[in-house]
Amino acid sequence: MEHKDDPSQPPHPADIVTGNYAGWKNSAVEKEVIVIGGGVSGLTAAKTLIENNITNILLLEADSRIGGRVRTYRQGNLSVEEGAEWIHGGERNTLYRLAKELQAVVPCVPDDAWDERVVTNNGHKSDPSKFEVVEDLMEEADTNGILEPYYHTGYGQFYLDRFPKVYGKGWDSTLGQAWLHLLEKTVNAEEGTNNWLDMSARDADQYVAKGQDHHWRDGFDTVVKYLQESIPDEVIRLSSPVCQIFWDQDDGQGVGKVLLVTNNGRSSYSAGRVIVAISVGYLKERHQHLFRPPLPVSLVKDLNSIELGVADKIQIGWEEPWWGSKDPLSLVILWKDRNLPKDMEWLYGIVQIFSVNQHPNVLLAFVTGGEAKVMERLPKDLVKRHLMHLLATTTGIKVPEPILFTRSQWGQNPWTRGSYSSYVTVEGDGNGLHKRQRLGMPLNNSLGKTVVFWAGEHIHNTRYGTVDGAMEVGEQQARRLIRKMKEECGDHNNSKSARVVNGNK
Ligand SMILES: Cc1cc2nc3c(=O)[nH]c(=O)nc-3n(C[C@H](O)[C@H](O)[C@H](O)COP(=O)(O)OP(=O)(O)OC[C@H]3O[C@@H](n4cnc5c(N)ncnc54)[C@H](O)[C@@H]3O)c2cc1C
Repeated sequence: MEHKDDPSQPPHPADIVTGNYAGWKNSAVEKEVIVIGGGVSGLTAAKTLIENNITNILLLEADSRIGGRVRTYRQGNLSVEEGAEWIHGGERNTLYRLAKELQAVVPCVPDDAWDERVVTNNGHKSDPSKFEVVEDLMEEADTNGILEPYYHTGYGQFYLDRFPKVYGKGWDSTLGQAWLHLLEKTVNAEEGTNNWLDMSARDADQYVAKGQDHHWRDGFDTVVKYLQESIPDEVIRLSSPVCQIFWDQDDGQGVGKVLLVTNNGRSSYSAGRVIVAISVGYLKERHQHLFRPPLPVSLVKDLNSIELGVADKIQIGWEEPWWGSKDPLSLVILWKDRNLPKDMEWLYGIVQIFSVNQHPNVLLAFVTGGEAKVMERLPKDLVKRHLMHLLATTTGIKVPEPILFTRSQWGQNPWTRGSYSSYVTVEGDGNGLHKRQRLGMPLNNSLGKTVVFWAGEHIHNTRYGTVDGAMEVGEQQARRLIRKMKEECGDHNNSKSARVVNGNK
């Protein structure tokens, strides 16, 4: 709810709703199924429905583009990812297999190809072997059973307990603490958490890694284009933010359709069932405005048990490398001194700056949590100046004017309100949210008909925060809807698409 009462935030674009139920109902465009949200999860749900001959559908997307948190930015020959970057895994990852089939996958830069530097914030070289402490601890956290004693505490507690032992002598020195800071920020960037002590260790333990990372040859949006190919243009309605969902309204005919209102009340749609595939950040912030009647108390409790962290990417590029080698750069920064002026303090959140896979002359830095929120509110040019200052002080080289600069603002984005990893909080774990599938339980209306289905990365128990996880959930939930349609077959047999299905048999 972080934006709710924040006067520095503009009003949410879905806030002003004018009109009334009867008017919306009379003018509603009728569909069999409506998918809300055109991220990869919603797109996969729509594709799955169509492939199963449920064709009388619509997908309503708030933004003027599809893809959601997959967003490739192109400038000339350069392309950078403002959202998802890596296919996390190899053969065991369905997305990797798809990318391979499309001949669109490239390996990541091999470990020995980097120009690796470990420096203090003043540019003094530091012992690179200490980076193994970070790597070893992050690997150790993946060991089976090791997090169990921490299930009721924050994930970060495991690291805080282990760090002194693994780092050894000097762990509490200024340099040791700079390494601990680096570890904390690296874990936050990996997990997408605002604060490593806030994420439930049980939730962190449920994520299943699937091998080495890979890259898309021509941008992550290749997968968005692939999904879009199976969906007729007229199915997707862009710039159509859903602002009200009447999911259990007595329509006097015992049909129990769902009525959706978009664009502040200017358009309406009616559907037998809906799949809600919007980010959990948006859902958490807006559900009270969105759903009529309100969501069940148990579901609200579960939504309050999960958080969508803010993690942003800042990317800066040049025609030529200027750091004194032709190799891709990996710069690890130890914040030994904290002497930045107040407005630059957000830079303490940056602990690694490294070349982007496809374009080694473009550097990428992650910033998370409080520092990301501060960065998002600064003017873009100031963020660029601050980053150039950091690069100059850490490399000792004058930084030329870049030809490319982007920074994401996922926290402020009204349709996401956060970045990648949704995470169950320690408090949420205490409230009993131990499995995310609960967030995917469909809603029945008073007639006993299952009308609202849920999709989105946050529902995947073991691959939350990933594109492959979001796509899997989209497919699963669409299949669930199809099964329900068949079970409640009176409903399906009367529908247009059922006639298509039967006609095809
Ligand atoms: C910075 C960053 C880095 C990432 N890195 C990786 C990575 O390396 N690898 C990886 O696998 N994953 C990564 N991810 C995560 C991945 O991008 C997401 O898990 C995935 O894209 C989520 O897809 P989704 O469809 O569940 O949600 P979203 O992409 O959020 O889609 C939801 C859609 O719903 C729309 N919407 C919201 N409200 C409404 C409304 N009221 N009406 C209509 N439409 C609405 C939104 O505009 C959006 O298009 C990253 C994400 C970010 C932000």
